Amino acid sequence: MTDVDVIIVGAGPTGLMLAAELRLAGVRPVVLERQPRLRETPKANGFSGQILELLRYRGLLDRLEAASTGSSHPAPGFPFGGVQVDLQHLADSPLRVLGLPQPRLEQVLDERARELGAEIRRGHEVVGVGQDAAGATVDARGPGGTYRVIARYVVGCDGGRSRIRDSAGIPFPGTTYPEVNRLGQVTVPDSVTVLDNGDLDVAGLGRIRAGFTRTDRGVFACGWLASGRLLIQTTEDEPAGVDDDTPMTLAELRDSIRRVLGVDLPLGEPLRLSRYQFQARQAERYRDGRILLAGDAGHLFPATGIGINTGMTDAVNLAWKLAAAVHGWAPAGLLDTYHDERHFAGTRALLQTQAQVALRRGHDPAAEALRELVLELLTDEQPLRRMGALIAGADIRYPLPNPNHHALAGAFAPDLPLRTDHGATSVAELMRTARPILLDLADRPDLRETARDWQHRVDVRTAETDHRPADALLIRPDGHIAWVAPADEPTDTAAELREALSRWFGTPRKTTMPVISLGAGSALRHTRPDRG
Ligand SMILES: Cc1cc2nc3c(=O)[nH]c(=O)nc-3n(C[C@H](O)[C@H](O)[C@H](O)COP(=O)(O)OP(=O)(O)OC[C@H]3O[C@@H](n4cnc5c(N)ncnc54)[C@H](O)[C@@H]3O)c2cc1C
Repeated sequence: MTDVDVIIVGAGPTGLMLAAELRLAGVRPVVLERQPRLRETPKANGFSGQILELLRYRGLLDRLEAASTGSSHPAPGFPFGGVQVDLQHLADSPLRVLGLPQPRLEQVLDERARELGAEIRRGHEVVGVGQDAAGATVDARGPGGTYRVIARYVVGCDGGRSRIRDSAGIPFPGTTYPEVNRLGQVTVPDSVTVLDNGDLDVAGLGRIRAGFTRTDRGVFACGWLASGRLLIQTTEDEPAGVDDDTPMTLAELRDSIRRVLGVDLPLGEPLRLSRYQFQARQAERYRDGRILLAGDAGHLFPATGIGINTGMTDAVNLAWKLAAAVHGWAPAGLLDTYHDERHFAGTRALLQTQAQVALRRGHDPAAEALRELVLELLTDEQPLRRMGALIAGADIRYPLPNPNHHALAGAFAPDLPLRTDHGATSVAELMRTARPILLDLADRPDLRETARDWQHRVDVRTAETDHRPADALLIRPDGHIAWVAPADEPTDTAAELREALSRWFGTPRKTTMPVISLGAGSALRHTRPDRG
């Protein structure tokens, strides 16, 4: 029997990120992962979206870039339901990508979590979970047999078939789509020449177009990767589904290409083969008492490219709230804001990925017209920018209770360059420690004084920046802005700040009581009690 603060089930990107974030917040997690070794099988080939910015704020992006073949960069385009969204025209695209195979991502996240002191047990499968008012328990089967771990909370980061979700009785409604996608990365065989525009010139067959080719039987897509390999994908409707346990083979990919394109396309050596069916599902609740869900355990999207972003962002949102609950200072309802905020973000992600299904499915002229129209609309800057932000999850503004209606309230904090008495810094640098910050941008002693009672939990920083967006920002550990002091509107902002600090960071160390002094000649005066 072991006793820890939090048990994380699953060491995918979500579970590993959560472990690192919990350690930054001073919590002892143990990660239980059923696979004995780090993942070797390919899944994602890279990831995109808002999490890249957050990883930069944590100082982790450099390390991930070093593990990749290149650096993160604005996505030149994005396959949106068979429509190639061209983002190259945006000077500051909201959608960034990093090409990094998922096994490498998980290796870096694993190393970082361990460096921060997280315990990760591989080869330990969770076989049961329970909870009562006092805590949660997990039964695990490891190399030494079955044992029990007790903890304050359990987080199921155990993927789409989550046992934790099912054991907690949390419904996972949605749809499994009949399209079967087969994916292969292959070397270019001698009989194929890749032309300058990416098209393939195949001996005996002629030219095969790069990008998407739609036929009556399905969709064929091909592209040339920076590694020099060909990426081939087919999509076919197979209502009977496929057997997930049968390994994907080159022959299966070749047969599928023949059905879709009606030709025998020569394929080189396979370096990566996979097959998947899309699902659109979301857990009804991300929390059931002491059991929480994050990542694929909470949501599955019917399009690629956003699963890692959404899952790791769940982890960052959850970690500091869970830490507050473990440390015993969480204000009422704080942990429930995890469901409110991230379920909302998951629903937005489902919205755009299900729209992609509708866009890519049709094979008739009406569907072609829809795709053409969407492409045409996306040549204008405003809808293009909006689409990029939607795919990235960068448009998420959490619906905060009683927001002061400032455009930044609930949004991700922009990386402002800052000048301080101690030199130049930036919001990104200040966020490395994952501590909340009151960023005073207008030298406001009233706000700094108010925040003093929370200084054990909230860092207060005074700085100048060009183009000051507000007088002050209260930034949560997940990078989202909890409260804004609008520029040059000092009335009552200190009282508002006090309320926001209490709502997000609990009771102050010492309550400032208004003391009414009735001494000679006095006016009513508010004074602070002595500290001590
Ligand atoms: C072919 C393919 C391509 C993809 N491409 C992309 C892409 O380009 N970009 C992108 O962002 N996303 C992509 N995805 C999706 C992405 O891989 C997932 O969204 C991501 O892996 C989710 O991470 P997770 O940590 O939530 O869950 P997972 O990665 O599924 O991790 C769950 C972990 O829990 C473990 N586990 C399960 N049950 C137990 C148990 N009972 N006890 C202990 N451990 C358990 C599993 O072994 C696993 O390691 C792709 C997926 C596939 C299949």
